[in-house]
Amino acid sequence: MSKRPRVGVLALQGDVREHARVLSDLGADVDLVRRPSELSAVDGLVIPGGESSVIDKLSRAFGMQQPLRDAIAGGMPIYGTCAGLILLADRITDGIDGQQTFGGLDVTVQRNAFGNQLDSFETDLDVPVLGEPPVHAVFIRAPLVLDAGSGVETVARLADGRIVAVRTPTLLGTSFHPEVTGERRFHELFLDTVRAA
Ligand code: GLN
Repeated sequence: MSKRPRVGVLALQGDVREHARVLSDLGADVDLVRRPSELSAVDGLVIPGGESSVIDKLSRAFGMQQPLRDAIAGGMPIYGTCAGLILLADRITDGIDGQQTFGGLDVTVQRNAFGNQLDSFETDLDVPVLGEPPVHAVFIRAPLVLDAGSGVETVARLADGRIVAVRTPTLLGTSFHPEVTGERRFHELFLDTVRAA
């Protein structure tokens, strides 16, 4: 029997509880992570949806920016949803003045890419790495991946071709929120990466 993976949810702001619930339902031991010592204790991390500029500022105030960058560079498996995807991007557009990211994903991500008319919407997405059934995806003031480097795999696109999920061997990012719809397969994919690391 393999031991239960110990994973964290970055708990500075955002939909922390929803992720923690999905991960513990899937059999992981879940810690809420706010401090460098708490980050050192986990084998993988989820960066939740919320407001990326707030999580950025709080991470700097809590002395978490550099530890997170070190963890990413050291190959810690990390899954970012929505604001979490923005925070994993090497480059962002439409950030607030001075907004920074942790980086690690060689992508350009546009914040609030759907404008005011389409603040929130739901759609079904084909996600080849997950197979059937399609993913029912909820987008809330969501970002888009405008371009992805050669080391980044596209995991899902909207019907018009725009990229909404990407991964590398250690990092996974989705523009949408599987944690609010009962969709567990992205968290399973993340936990597989944690177990393999
Ligand atoms: N628009 C938010 C941001 O810029 C992301 C929204 C979300 O995480 N649901 O961080």
